[in-house]
Amino acid sequence: MKYLLKCLPVFILGVILFVPSALAADHTVNRVGGSTRYDTAVLAAKQSWSEAKTAIIVGGTAYSDAIAAAPLAYQKNAPLLYTNKDQLSAGTKKGLIDLKTKNVIIVGGTPAVSKNTENQIANLGISVKRLSGSTRYATAEKVANAMTSSSTALVVNGFVDADGMAAISYASSKKYPILFTNDSTLNGSTSNAIKSLGIKNTIVIGGTKSISSSLYNKLPNPSRVSANNRYDLSVKLANKTSLSTGYTFVTNGFKEADSIVGGVLSSKQGRVHVLTNGDNLSKEVRTYIGSKSINGFTVIGKSSSLSDNVASQLKNPVVGKTVFIDPGHGSQDSGATGYGLLEKNVNLDIATRLNNKLYSAGALTVMSRTGDTFDSLEERVNKGAKAKADIFISVHANANDNSSANGTETYYDTTYQSANSLRLAQNIQPKMVSAIGTRDRGVKTAGFYVIKYSKMPSVLLETGFVTSPIDSNILKQSSKKDSLAAGITQGVSSYFR
Ligand SMILES: [Zn+2]
Repeated sequence: MKYLLKCLPVFILGVILFVPSALAADHTVNRVGGSTRYDTAVLAAKQSWSEAKTAIIVGGTAYSDAIAAAPLAYQKNAPLLYTNKDQLSAGTKKGLIDLKTKNVIIVGGTPAVSKNTENQIANLGISVKRLSGSTRYATAEKVANAMTSSSTALVVNGFVDADGMAAISYASSKKYPILFTNDSTLNGSTSNAIKSLGIKNTIVIGGTKSISSSLYNKLPNPSRVSANNRYDLSVKLANKTSLSTGYTFVTNGFKEADSIVGGVLSSKQGRVHVLTNGDNLSKEVRTYIGSKSINGFTVIGKSSSLSDNVASQLKNPVVGKTVFIDPGHGSQDSGATGYGLLEKNVNLDIATRLNNKLYSAGALTVMSRTGDTFDSLEERVNKGAKAKADIFISVHANANDNSSANGTETYYDTTYQSANSLRLAQNIQPKMVSAIGTRDRGVKTAGFYVIKYSKMPSVLLETGFVTSPIDSNILKQSSKKDSLAAGITQGVSSYFR
């Protein structure tokens, strides 16, 4: 592409520069995952405690008990472990012995942790205390009574585990108890707890579907933290703390047992905990990671809970970076033409594949166009700025009167971010060439509008010549365009290393 709409002549005087590769580093991801939820909880405990004088034990599926217990675990400097209902799980038993635990607080009634299990714990020479009520509300009240006094409490729907899971590290760090309600009525136990604990302020977690407006208005000095989904909620709550983002805890927001353990362990370590989709890193979490430049993570649960795909996304330094993708030309502006190809279509096809691959890698992406539409060059630059993009990539194909001209080249401009733009170009160019086997025309400078006026590191890719019989044949093949997009994605990832 030229300053205006057509593609540039071939023989621009280019500079080919090399810089030594920067300190290459992927992000760090520590996975804490056992073969069962019981083992995962023990492994997690051992991450932070070599000895735990006190431990909290809850039933393996008694999530509301576990959520209520979590801020107490923080105050007691105790790990939270799970057990089978009817007998003490083998892994948990070994965990209690290894951690030299002297006191256990069981949270929950005998329907969650049986008397037999309690006796098995006592038989290890451990002193056992139980906090339980006849309902989840009453159990939460008992737990709140066992905590140091606080004039503020969280109020959470006891049947919406996601709200409670998201709130654990927030509640713990602020030393707030978690009290339960349903969506519309204040339970007697919760009402008692508010009175007896002297609660003056309540923070309602979740939207009006979780806790209705009328119930909200009955609470003392209420405020509400609500969000679009559980991922967003966890990020919003993280932003209300001053917890460390080093080794941010990430768990699958649909796996309660692992997420509650993640909340307890992150609290102990003074770190942030966020919830994600388990198969594909949630957009809200990407944005948070990008905004905080987080480069180390602890994930809780085995790969069936938090997938290897998410772990790979966290590991990739492109995670949370915003990449602006500009498919050159469009609509009435076809760009270059040759061998039946319209450049605008080639550009959009490659750019769409690039968009998908970058998102799969963990990036956030914004495209200047997703269909056969036209934006002026200025509009493209403005869109990139509005997206607050970390980098700007304009995708083009080349043309020349001489059909023997062929190959791939990458342009940058020296006006803004010259060194980073060069480095971006140098990361992408060889990956494109090796992806589709075109002639390597190198990295060059030119003042094309979109890379001259974009203030972030920016490059313009000339993927190949539509006027070349060799290149046009390559650019006609979906598999080649897919490989090209994969190559560009690799180049972008390595730029952020
Ligand atoms: Zn072009």
